[in-house]
Amino acid sequence: MVLADRFKEVRAKVPANVKIIAVSKTKPVSMIEDIYLNTGHIFYGENKALELEKKHSLLPEAINWHYIGHLQTNKIKYIAQFVSLIQSVDSFRVLYAINKEAIKNNRVIPCLLQFHIASEAAKFGFSIEEVLAMLSDKSFQDLANVRIDGVMGMATFTDNEQQIRTEFKTLFNYFNILKTGYFANYPGFCEISMGMSDDYRIAIEEGSTMVRIGSGIFGER
Ligand SMILES: *Cc1c(COP(=O)(O)O)cnc(C)c1O
Repeated sequence: MVLADRFKEVRAKVPANVKIIAVSKTKPVSMIEDIYLNTGHIFYGENKALELEKKHSLLPEAINWHYIGHLQTNKIKYIAQFVSLIQSVDSFRVLYAINKEAIKNNRVIPCLLQFHIASEAAKFGFSIEEVLAMLSDKSFQDLANVRIDGVMGMATFTDNEQQIRTEFKTLFNYFNILKTGYFANYPGFCEISMGMSDDYRIAIEEGSTMVRIGSGIFGER
């Protein structure tokens, strides 16, 4: 099947109110261009700053780039000028550094807070306690050039559907805690980014607003 048709097939399975971020990491710009030109889809996700900078320079400005990987503070400068959403903020240190680069570029950078919801130790992310402490702290409240639009998380890589579902429920619950306690007056705090190629159906059932699909569109990496 041609690539654009594979995208359309996935799009047809995902409710219209759930955004799809086509995760194009490691894939050539020609594949992104193919989907963009044949379907008009503009949301793509990358997890390496330099790869993202390169792809941004080669593709139309209309494309909306999401950064979804662990971010080193010294790499933020490569994407700060154009990135649409940094989904993977996993420490105050990173958020502070994003704010600094946003100031240099005279813009506000939208971000999601990444939570550690999986049982694997290797996955990055905040605990709910860390986020509650951060949000109450003046040093967070002083950051004027970042905007928190929601939460992101990755479930454990497992065949155990119940475990995946429980982890997504946890993220949904964290979203509600933050919405009620800290962002009740900010309607833009509305995104729950959860679900990948193998688990997006479960994530959507559990309230996902944004799924990040790589191999399910572009094929195996
Ligand atoms: C690679 C990646 C994805 C997409 O994974 P697939 O299994 O290929 O759909 C989603 N989210 C993050 C954070 C990733 O790094």
